[in-house]
Amino acid sequence: MIPSSRTFDSPLDILLAEDDPVTQRLIRGILERFGYAVQVVADGKQAFETIRTSGVQFLITDWVMPEMEGPDLCKRIREEIRDRYIYIILLTARAETADIISGIEAGADDYLVKPFEPDELLVRIRAGQRVITLERRLNEAQEQLRFLAFHDDLTGLLNRRAVLDRLREEIARSGRQDTPLSVIFFDIDHFKRINDTYGHLAGDRILKGVAERVGKLCRAYDVFGRYGGEEFVILMPGTSQSAAACVAERIRRALAAEPILTQPEAIGLTASFGVCEMTSDREVETDLIMKSVDEALYRAKEGGRNRVCVAGDDILSTE
Ligand code: GH3
Ligand code: MG
Ligand code: MG
Ligand code: MG
Repeated sequence: MIPSSRTFDSPLDILLAEDDPVTQRLIRGILERFGYAVQVVADGKQAFETIRTSGVQFLITDWVMPEMEGPDLCKRIREEIRDRYIYIILLTARAETADIISGIEAGADDYLVKPFEPDELLVRIRAGQRVITLERRLNEAQEQLRFLAFHDDLTGLLNRRAVLDRLREEIARSGRQDTPLSVIFFDIDHFKRINDTYGHLAGDRILKGVAERVGKLCRAYDVFGRYGGEEFVILMPGTSQSAAACVAERIRRALAAEPILTQPEAIGLTASFGVCEMTSDREVETDLIMKSVDEALYRAKEGGRNRVCVAGDDILSTE
C-alpha cells in the first residue's frame, strides 16, 4: 500500500458528501486510515453550507444525493465560492463516458468510479493536494506583492503611492461627513550631512528610528507614510489645523529631545514641519493639499529649520 503522508494544515481536511451510510463508513475509514481528518455530510445542500462557512478546500462528493446532486453542488461551488479554490473529486457509481464528461463539465476536478481501489483514491487526493498547495503559495506571493506595492521597504510604512491613495479617500470622506482633515509633512534637517558624516547605512537606520519614534506618537486612525527620501507625511482625519500643529510640535520635540539610538552611535537630529488643513470649501485635490503643506514646510526650512509652520500662517514655534 502507498504510505500515507498528509500535508494539509486545515483542521478540516476533507469534506465527504455521501448519502449512503454504508458507503459513508467505508470511505471515511479509508480516508482516516490515510491520516486525513474527515467531515461527513449526507446531502449536497449541507455540503455547500459547510464549504461556505468553513475553510475546507477538499471535497469528495457522491453524484446521487438528496437536496442537491453532485454536479449541481460542483456548479454552485464554482459560481459562488470565490475566496479559495475547492478541489472536487466526484466519486460515483455512474461510469458512462457521458457521465464523466458532464461531471467534470459541471466543475469537478477529478472523477472516480465506485467501486474503487483505496490506493487509487489516495493518489488522486494527492494530485488535488498539489493543486491546493500551489494555490496557497500563489496567494501568499500575491499578498506579499500587494504589501510591497503599498509599503516602503526600509521603514515598513505606507509609501507615497499608498499615502496619496489614502489622501484621496480621506478627502472624499471629509467632504461627505463634513469633518476636518489635516496633513503634517515633515523633512529631516540636514540629512545629507548625517549621511556624509555617518554613512548611508547609518542614515538608513536613522530613517527607521524616526519612523518608529513618530509611529508611537500617531493615533490608530492617523495615516503615517514615507513620502520620499527623508520626507514623511501624516494624514489626520477628524483633526483641525491647530490640533494637527500641536501634534507636529509634539513630534518635533520628541525627535529633537533625544538622539536616535543606532549602532554603533546615537545620532541627534531635528526635523522641520508643514501643517495644512483641508476644509470643505477649499478645492478638494490631493495636489493642492500637498502643495500647500509643502509650502508650509519650505517656510519652516527657510525660517531656520527645527520648527512647525502652518499653511497660510506664521511660525508656530521655534527652539
Ligand atoms: P534640508 O534640511 O534642507 O532638508 O537638508 P537635507 O540635507 O536634509 O536635504 P537634501 O534634500 O539636500 O538631502 C536629502 C538627503 O537624503 C540626500 C539623500 O542622499 C538622502 N536620502 C534620501 N533617501 C535616503 C535613504 O533612503 N537612505 C539614506 N541613508 N539617505 C537618503
Ligand atoms: Mg448517493
Ligand atoms: Mg531634509
Ligand atoms: Mg528632503
